[in-house]
Amino acid sequence: MGQMKAARLHKIGTDFSIDEIEIPTLGPDDVLVKVEACGIIPNMKNVMQHYSEWFPFLPLPELPAIYGLDAAGIVADVGANVTTIKSGERVYVNPGVSCGNCHACRRGESINCDAFTFLGYFGFGARSREVFDRYDTAGFAEYMAAPASAIVKLPGNVSFEAAARLGYMGTAYSGLRKAGARAGTSAVISGATGTLGLGAVLLAKAMGVTKIFAVARDRTLLTRLQDLDPARIHTLSYGDEPLDEWVRGHTGGLGADIFVDAIGPGAPAQVSVDGINSLRRGGRYVDIGGMDEKLPLEMFRMMCFQISVLGSLWFTTAEGQDMMEMAAAGTLDLDGILDHVVYPLGEISAALEAVDRRKGGFTNVVIRHA
Ligand SMILES: [Zn+2]
Repeated sequence: MGQMKAARLHKIGTDFSIDEIEIPTLGPDDVLVKVEACGIIPNMKNVMQHYSEWFPFLPLPELPAIYGLDAAGIVADVGANVTTIKSGERVYVNPGVSCGNCHACRRGESINCDAFTFLGYFGFGARSREVFDRYDTAGFAEYMAAPASAIVKLPGNVSFEAAARLGYMGTAYSGLRKAGARAGTSAVISGATGTLGLGAVLLAKAMGVTKIFAVARDRTLLTRLQDLDPARIHTLSYGDEPLDEWVRGHTGGLGADIFVDAIGPGAPAQVSVDGINSLRRGGRYVDIGGMDEKLPLEMFRMMCFQISVLGSLWFTTAEGQDMMEMAAAGTLDLDGILDHVVYPLGEISAALEAVDRRKGGFTNVVIRHA
C-alpha cells in the first residue's frame, strides 16, 4: 500500500530511529488510521528501557518495535467486514486489545482476556504475542492498524492532541465507575495533580461527584486544580493535616464514599492507608496507579466497615465512547485544561525528555505527525 515513516526501537537502551517501512495491510475486521497525534506517557521510557528486566513476565513488542500508546487520527481505510466506520472519520484508537474469542472475551470482559495487550506498549498475558503478531504498528508511526472494536469516534470539539490523553482519562473513568461514582457521592483522589489523578478529578467532576477531595503535594498545582470547580473540589497538600480527619471534617463525620488511588510506583504506602482510613462504612477503594509498596490492610476493620478494595486496569472502548459523549456535551473539557506540548516525530527523543520536565498532569506531551 506504500511506505510510511515510523520511529522504531532496534535495541533496548538505544534511541528510536526513523525508518521507512510498509504501511500495514488490514484484516477483514480492521481499520487503518492515519495517526495525527500520539501521547507520550510518563512511563514510556521505562517500558522501552527497563521493562524487560523489571517485569520479564510482561511481553513486549518484538524488535525492531514501534511504540506509541495513545493514538488519534483519521480513518484511512477499513477492512471488508467493517461497515459503520468510514474513511475520513476522526477517531481515537483504544490500544487495549483482546483476542475476542476466549472465555473472558465471550463473557464481554475484554480486559480480563489472557491476551490483553497494549498496542505499542506491552502485553499482560502469555497470549499477548498473538496480538503483537497481528498488530505491529502503533502511534509513533504515520499509520497504524487496529481492530474496529478498538475505535472511539471523536466529536468535533476534541482536538487530536487532547484525544491523545484518553488513555489516562479512561483509566480514571473506569475506576470511578467500578467504585460507583455518581451525583451525590464523594471521592478522595490521591496524586491528584499528576497525569492520572488530574484525569480522575476531571472525570469525577463530569460524572457529577458532589465532593471531590484532591490530595497531592504541589500547592501551586493544587490551587490550579481547585480553580476548576471551587465549590466541589477541596484540596489538601498531603501532610498539612491528617487526611482522614480532613475528609471527615467535610462530610459531617462520615468519611468519603470512594477513594481513587492514582499514585504510581515509588510512592509510600502510607498515603493509600490514610486514604482507606478516610472512607465511610461501605466505602470503596479503587487502585488505578499501581503503586508497588505492599499495603498493610487491617482486614478486621475492613470486614466490620464493609470496605471494598478494587483493582482497575485501563477502560473499554465503550467507556472511551462515553467520555467522548461527555466531551461533546461540554461536561468534560480537555482542550480548555491541558497545556499541549507538541513535537514532530523526528524529535521523539526530545519529547521523551520533555515528559520528565512536565509540570504535573496539566502538561500534555504529544507527537504530532506532519
Ligand atoms: Zn480474549
